[in-house]
Parts: sequence; C-alpha cells; structure tokens
Amino acid sequence: MTTATNARDPRVVIIGAGMAGILTVIKLREAGYENFIVYEKADRLGGTWRENTYPGVACDVPAHLYTYSFEPNPGWTRMFASGQEIQEYFENVAKKYDVLPVIRFNTEVKSCVFENGQWQLALGNGRHDTADVVIAASGVLHHPHVADLPGLNEFAGKWFHSARWDHSVPLEGKRVGVIGTGSTAIQITSALVNKVAKFELFQRTAQWVMPMVDREYSPEERTAFASDASKIDALRVELNHMMIDRIANAVVAADSPEMAAIEQACLENLEKNVRDPVLREKLRPNYRAACKRLIFSPDFYEAIQHPNAELVTDAIDHLEAKGVRTKDGRLHELDVLVVATGFRADRFIRPAVVKGRGGLDLDHVWKDRPFAYLSLSIPEFPNFFMLNGPNGPVGNFSLIQIAEFQVGYILQLMAEIRAGHCREISASREATKRFDEARIAESKKAIWSTGCKSWYLDQFGVPASWPWTYARFEAEMQAPKLEAFERVG
Ligand code: NAP
Repeated sequence: MTTATNARDPRVVIIGAGMAGILTVIKLREAGYENFIVYEKADRLGGTWRENTYPGVACDVPAHLYTYSFEPNPGWTRMFASGQEIQEYFENVAKKYDVLPVIRFNTEVKSCVFENGQWQLALGNGRHDTADVVIAASGVLHHPHVADLPGLNEFAGKWFHSARWDHSVPLEGKRVGVIGTGSTAIQITSALVNKVAKFELFQRTAQWVMPMVDREYSPEERTAFASDASKIDALRVELNHMMIDRIANAVVAADSPEMAAIEQACLENLEKNVRDPVLREKLRPNYRAACKRLIFSPDFYEAIQHPNAELVTDAIDHLEAKGVRTKDGRLHELDVLVVATGFRADRFIRPAVVKGRGGLDLDHVWKDRPFAYLSLSIPEFPNFFMLNGPNGPVGNFSLIQIAEFQVGYILQLMAEIRAGHCREISASREATKRFDEARIAESKKAIWSTGCKSWYLDQFGVPASWPWTYARFEAEMQAPKLEAFERVG
C-alpha cells in the first residue's frame, strides 16, 4: 500500500463507494488531487441502492433532484426512480468518471488510528494503509436493525430483513408478512399485495401518508431533456423550491403554515382514500404528521385495501414455527416474513474503530450521542471528515445535494493543508460545543420533537437531524469559518 505523505498531494482514503464516495473521487480529481483510494467492503458500488433491493424499492425524492448536479440524467424513466434505476445511474457515473480503478472492493476498513500526524488504517484483508486525510462516506441508514422479536428463529418459513432481501425465496402464491410501517414497508406493501396469496402488514404505529403523484416520463419528454439541458435545470429549480419550501423548511418549524398544509394533505389522503371506517381508524396516527419521517406514497392506501391484504394492529407476542402469534392469541400463518424494522441510525462508520489524538476512541466520544461540527468534523480527530455524518439534514433534503455541499466544504479545509497553512485540521471543542448546544435548543421547534418515537431521536429523545432551514445549511457550507477549526503544524 502507498504511504507517501505530501502536503501538496496528501494521501486520502475514502471509506465507502456509495453515492458520497463516488462523488468524493470525482471532486478530489477535479481539485487536482491524485493520491487517493476508496475502500468498499462489498463487491459492488452503490451503497444503499446496492443493499436495498426489496420489491418496490424507489426513492421518494424526485429523480431529477436525486441526481448529481454536474451529471444530469435526461433518461430518468419516471418522476420517482426505482432503486434499480438509481443503482444503474451510479454505476454509469462511476464508469464515465473512471472511478472504478480507485475502488478496492471487498475491503472493509476495520480501524483508523491517528498516530504521528497520520491515520493508520487496518483493513479486513489483513493489510494496512496510511492516510493524511480520511473521508468517511459510509452512509447513514446502513446497519439493519432486526427488531428483537421473541421466537424469530423458531419460524419455519423464510425470514429476512428488508435490506437483506433473499431473492431466491419465491413469493408467488405464498403467505407473506411484513413487520413495520416505515417507508420501506409501505413500498413493499404496494409492490407485493397483488403478487402473493396473502399479505399481512404488522403495524405497531400508524403512519401519516403524504399523497404523491408519480408517472413515467414519455419518450418525448426524455428526448427534450436530452436535447435541451435548460429544461432539466428549470425542472430542478422547480422541484427544489417545492421540496425546500413545502417539506424541508416545514419540518423544522412545527407551528408553521407549511406544516399545517402537510398535516391537512395527509389527513385528506386518509379520509378520502380509505373507505372502510374501521380500517381508517386503524390507520389514523395519534401524533402529528411528519413527526416520524413522512411516508410519500401514491398508492399505499389502495394497496392495503386489496382483498389479499390485512393490516394487523394487535401487538406481536412472539413468533413460532407456523407464523406470528399476536397478543390476542391469534396465529397468523406465514410462509415468508420480512422484518422491515429499520436501521441503527446512530452507528455511522462504526463498528470500525476510530481513534483520534492520544488514542481518543470515537465510541467513547460518542457514548451519549453521535455528534459532529456541522455534521462533518469532530474535535481531536484531525483530517477526518464525514459525509452525511451525525446531525446533518438527513430526511429533509436530497442527500446528494447535501453531500455535494459537504465535499465542497471539506475541499476548502483540505486546501489549508495543501497550502501549507497547517498539517492537521479539525473542529475546535468550543465551536463544536456551541454548535451542538444551539442544535439541541433549536430542535425543540422541529416537528420531530412533538411526541412520537422515530429514528430521528437519540437516546435522550432529542432529534439528531439538522434543525435549521435549507438556506442556513447552504450558507454554512459556502466557506468554513476557520476560527471554528483547530489548525496544528
Ligand atoms: P423505519 O422508518 O425505522 O421503520 C421501522 C418500522 O419497524 C416502524 O414502523 C417501527 O414501528 C417498526 N418496528 C420496529 N421495531 C418493531 C418491533 N419490535 N415490533 C414491531 N414493529 C417494529 O425503517 P424503514 O422503513 O426501513 O425506513 C428507514 C428510513 O429509510 C426512512 O425513514 C427513510 O428515511 C429511508 N427510506 C427512504 C426511502 C425513500 O424512498 N427515500 C425508502 C425507504 C426508506 P414504530 O413506528 O412503532 O417504531
């Protein structure tokens, strides 16, 4: 492994070859860096779109927004792209920008330890590497959370987590159960109800569902996008306004008129589209809309009213060989069970061991809650940067836009090293403390704090997501306030 250190061309290790890792390679090259490598634990790029292959997987952010700004895709076949189409997009971009040769697949980073001004990395294949800069592009909703369901292993049928879909298991003519009602389970429901013999959705908490219109782009529209780039630009501006004004800025202001409009739209969706009053009440949440991550679906209510479908609201008692036994004593016999119970949103780069100055362990630093200055830098972890790290605007905006801003910001920090102004740079303790205190105070105004349980909340019930507006994030990302950083050497 290369270990050359050079302020003019520092060695950069990128962890993860998903959306953010691919982006980082492209942007590093553009900025003139040559000495970098990506370690990817899987055998393929794509991150979340490689991992999530469940039926119905799609992105509920409009496709033309869920696209790198520098690589528009006139070919998106629909307004909301499928997971497979998004995976193909990333593969094509990686090919076009010659990213593949710098990715080392099947190589997990086990640890990063800062010693004598450099990061020492231990890799899963037993090898080692040394880096001046580490950029963790390891994803947010990445570590499956398999709910602790008593008797799960007694189940004689097939079961798997939604992010570990076993495509060898036939579904046609089978009795399929899905546990959970998050965005994932809702998409699975719409995709599967009419393909299986019996579909049971086990709901612990009802969800607010925002109606959305999805449709294919016609060949004429796609040709127009391809021949006139300004058409995509105009669409992006329009979509951006819609997402930012109506969703992203609304969720951080629980009492705003925009939030009231979301609540109204969800309520009307429920009232108008669920015909059976008993089912309607079962589907009616008892907390405010968007307190949990909003579900966007054009057809969930229709799907759950399909003759094959049953919404089970009795709590699960345990699993047994034949299926799920609910607390009312009923046995729900199943052939296949999908555990769509979400992700460990507090893990980030862990279980990799990360040790900063003086052996300071990230696990210890994050023992209460993961945090980072502006979501990307941690005090005493010099030249270690995160994309879509803790406390970023996850869930509100297109994560691609966020990562583009963050890479631009990190490159400006790296420019300090390159210019010889310092050898080590990381957020100062004071700036990070101020940022975190302000973030926690502000998060009380967000809809996520209005009394529901969700993956947004940390163990103290404080939302971990960016609690300010999009404009504020954009402004912060324009240029680092260098006084907020400790520069050494
Ligand atoms: P999730 O939103 O965390 O939902 C997990 C579900 O499992 C919840 O309904 C939860 O119920 C249920 N659950 C957890 N433990 C349980 C237990 N012991 N017994 C019964 N039910 C249990 O997970 P997700 O649906 O995978 O989605 C995670 C996030 O991924 C989303 O919020 C979204 O940000 C992202 N995502 C995005 C898209 C997209 O289109 N962009 C698609 C899919 C996912 P409670 O509500 O009662 O806790």
